[in-house]
Amino acid sequence: MPELPEVETVRRGLEPVMTGQVIATAQVNRPDLRWPLPERMAERLTGARVDRLRRRSKYILADLSTGETLLIHLGMSGRMLISGTMLGEFHHHHPAPARHDHVVLDMAGGARVTFNDARRFGAMDLFATGTDDAHPLLAGLGPEPLGNAFDEDYLIARLKGRKTPIKAALLDQRIVAGLGNIYVSETLFRAGIDPRRHAGRIAADRVRRLVPLIREVLSEAIEAGGSSLRDYRQADGELGYFQHTFRVYDRENAPCPTPGCTGHVARIVQSGRSTFFCPRCQR
Ligand SMILES: [Zn+2]
Repeated sequence: MPELPEVETVRRGLEPVMTGQVIATAQVNRPDLRWPLPERMAERLTGARVDRLRRRSKYILADLSTGETLLIHLGMSGRMLISGTMLGEFHHHHPAPARHDHVVLDMAGGARVTFNDARRFGAMDLFATGTDDAHPLLAGLGPEPLGNAFDEDYLIARLKGRKTPIKAALLDQRIVAGLGNIYVSETLFRAGIDPRRHAGRIAADRVRRLVPLIREVLSEAIEAGGSSLRDYRQADGELGYFQHTFRVYDRENAPCPTPGCTGHVARIVQSGRSTFFCPRCQR
């Protein structure tokens, strides 16, 4: 499931072919993804210029010259493919239409952007630009973890008195937007904090340390995504999925990577999701 760094990688990959470009034709091949697609979606997209491509949490937002914003959510299995344009020295020809190609945008510049989603947990919507906060998927989201509003004092204040485990608190999108299961496990490992510990019981100086670690974990993953973008130019034009090296995530029973620690990575289930951590050095 794509998390914030993967979504940001997709956004950066789409930027050169979409920003400033007019959508020459839009093909919408079914009435719904996870939810119904907007009415007359193809018509509303055709002829629109993409003025800005931004990201909020795990949503890609394309502000259009028509006064509407196109929201794209990759869901569990959504993929974005680029074809028909020069990417570095390689030319990607349009592939034959594939199963699950639900939305196809042909940009006036020659690139084709295809949204393919086998499981259809993805979503797209159109809404009036400037009304992000009123959109049901965006309303109530906390600050961006890489943005200025998310800082040490903010996090200390938001966690104060909370009896939920710190893992659940950091996954709470109202506290911080876009953090998911993988990067919360990685952050708590680096912070040496037991994921089961009640959020409100963690000393302020330890909470303080979480903020730069969250930024570090996400920034490293975005950096890795950047290298994958350079690679895709030689591959098939698919954006956003890349090889990661995690320290604890999905590494059950592996020796703990903390120097000097003799523990092993454990897996537990919290609120229905796997948590990976070292019971020896995370307290
Ligand atoms: Zn350890």
